Order: sequence, then structure tokens, then C-alpha cells
Amino acid sequence: MAKISIHPAVDNGVKPGSPNFTGGTLECKCTSNPVEVSVTSQCAYNHVCGCTKCWKPEGALFSQVAVVPRDKLRVSKNADKLKVVDANAAIQRYACKDCGVHMYGRIENTKHPFYGFDFIHTELSKDQGWAPPEFAAFVSSIIESGTPPDQMGAVRSQLKELRLEPLDGCDRHPRCQGIGGACSLISIAVAGEATA
Ligand SMILES: [Zn+2]
Ligand SMILES: [Zn+2]
Repeated sequence: MAKISIHPAVDNGVKPGSPNFTGGTLECKCTSNPVEVSVTSQCAYNHVCGCTKCWKPEGALFSQVAVVPRDKLRVSKNADKLKVVDANAAIQRYACKDCGVHMYGRIENTKHPFYGFDFIHTELSKDQGWAPPEFAAFVSSIIESGTPPDQMGAVRSQLKELRLEPLDGCDRHPRCQGIGGACSLISIAVAGEATA
């Protein structure tokens, strides 16, 4: 059976990050005047995400998304090309008006458990050393974007082979509420999104 493409950044194996990495520059896909975002921090909680809201490259089943402290992120070029995709979502995703790439996601609700973190897609950076994805969130949600349910077994085994533990929000740990593991963080983020 043909190998399933999860995301171009992990399809040939997950590359390890560098322990000394202190950040880099993200660029949108515009060939002229790209939006540039500068991050002066390593990322955390990098993962692949199957939800329908995160930006993903053409043809990928999952997005790849991580967080960085919001005070370590700044738009360094062409900020005027950014617009918020959905102002009512818990995570305000800033996309380039021309190429559609999401440059970062920001939470303005100070009560949200993720407040203080911005969401980024490290694949938009040519810099090497970003912490790699560690797990897969919202795996079942790829059905909403068109993956046939009978392919889910193959998708999950592919994720396991890449050591990206497949999670579905909170269905694995029905009672987890606190912030600690990736699963609880993610499920709280979902709850925030649903009610925002
Ligand atoms: Zn662009
Ligand atoms: Zn997502």
C-alpha cells in the first residue's frame, strides 16, 4: 500500500531539533514582499494537527503547529499584508492576504489557558533546529476535511511509526482537566475554541 502523506516535514522521518536553537525567521509564500515574522525563542509543543482551522500546505493531511511566547514573536516585514482569518475564534490566526499562509495565531483572551503563547508553523522557516513535532492532535478531524473513515487505521499506524502519538482531543483521557500533558492542553484549547 502506498505510504500516506501526513505532512511534508515529517513524511521522510521526524528530524531532531537542536538544543542550542534560539529562534529564526518565518516567511510567507509570496515571491515578492513576503511577510516576515521573527521569533527569538525555540518552539514548544510542536505537533501535527488534523483540525480544519490550522493552515496546512497543499495536499497535506495535517498541519504542523507549535507555540512560542508571544513576547518573543514580532512581525518584522510587510505587516500590512496580514489579516485575521476569523476574529471570533479563540485563536486569531494572522494570514497573508496574498498567499493565504497563516503566519501566526494569537490569543487575546487573558483567561484562555494558552494566553501568552503564539502559534506558529515552523516549516515556514529556513532555519534549522526547531524542536520537531512530538504528537498528533485532532487525528479524527481529518475525516471532516475529506479523509475516508476507512483510511483512519492506516493514518494512525503511519503516525505511530513516526512516533507521533495519535490523540483525539480528550477522548483518550476523558477526565483530564489540568494543564500538564499535551492531551489536556489540547482539549482545553478546543473547548476555548468552541465557546469563543
Ligand atoms: Zn504571502
Ligand atoms: Zn489545528
